Amino acid sequence: MIRVAIVGYGNLGRGVEKAIKKNSDMSLIGIFTRRKPETVSSEGSPVFPMAELMNKKEDIDVCILCGGSATDLPEQTPKLTQWFNTVDSFDTHAKIPEHFLAVDKIAKEHQKTSIISVGWDPGLFSLNRLIAKSILPQGETLTFWGKGVSQGHSDALRRVSGVADAVQYTIPNDEIIERLKAGEKLELTARDKHVRECFVVLEEGADQEKIKNEIIEMPNYFSDYDTTVHFISQKTLESEHKQGMPHGGKVLRVGETSEGMKQVYDFSLDLQSNPEFTASVIVAYARACVRLADEKVYGAQTVFDVAPKYLTQLSDDVLRKDYL
Ligand code: NAP
Repeated sequence: MIRVAIVGYGNLGRGVEKAIKKNSDMSLIGIFTRRKPETVSSEGSPVFPMAELMNKKEDIDVCILCGGSATDLPEQTPKLTQWFNTVDSFDTHAKIPEHFLAVDKIAKEHQKTSIISVGWDPGLFSLNRLIAKSILPQGETLTFWGKGVSQGHSDALRRVSGVADAVQYTIPNDEIIERLKAGEKLELTARDKHVRECFVVLEEGADQEKIKNEIIEMPNYFSDYDTTVHFISQKTLESEHKQGMPHGGKVLRVGETSEGMKQVYDFSLDLQSNPEFTASVIVAYARACVRLADEKVYGAQTVFDVAPKYLTQLSDDVLRKDYL
């Protein structure tokens, strides 16, 4: 049995609790939170304060870190890797190299294994970008996200004065995807690849026209995209846009293996729940983390470093017989 601890219990933590139940070789030791445990309601698993984690050190093979990437994981992953094998889903792409170095140093010093930035992007999409580029060295790779809710863009909407609540969807431009697959060479801007659709609830007395313009012109978030803004009631937002957290997207590489011989590599995900799927990926990599630690492969790793056979409960024989 692989004995797992969940550190941090938000959307992802809840997904990990569910995913562990689907894996017969895993058992959950507990959920560890910075909040008062009695204020956190799990789906039946024991909840402990963070301070209790060290007391259970001998009972835990791997900690799955479910904190946020902005401020939790840069602190929690290096710190906890002193004592535990760890897996996180750090997804601030620009800061992955520095996060890797910080975790790698601690992990090597303390003979621990940590797999960082696991999920679908970074994660499975990264793996597919690498495989596609290796197989088709001549070509172009593009990543499309959606249709799905972007937490960062939804937060940006909610910070606009006069906005009571909001949800933002990122939607890939299907026409562009089809033209690329047909082999057209296109110079694409951000505006060509995705559109943004906003559902906004106004505060009492707010100026609708002014807020709409402020959103559409917001630099970094909306000004580089074709953005539509719909004003709706809180009730509609709750019933139509806050149930589940769907997401998905695709990695597309179009290349040539000889003059005029077009090849399309298309890896897609269509997810009803972003956090539950991300959690399922992380749980498979937690298995790999424990195996690598057993083999004394210490230090930080990413999805690029982990051989696929470490992800599964299936034996090498079965893999060769049924999956090759
Ligand atoms: P979240 O719900 O905001 O949870 C983050 C942390 O906030 C939790 O671990 C929890 O820590 C705390 N928290 C949760 N609910 C709270 C509440 N009601 N009040 C106070 N604190 C609360 O974030 P998430 O949706 O689980 O996502 C976590 C991270 O996963 C994201 O930052 C993102 O980086 C990453 N992610 C990666 C991928 C990928 O493909 N690589 C995909 C999706 C998400 P405590 O229990 O300790 O308080």
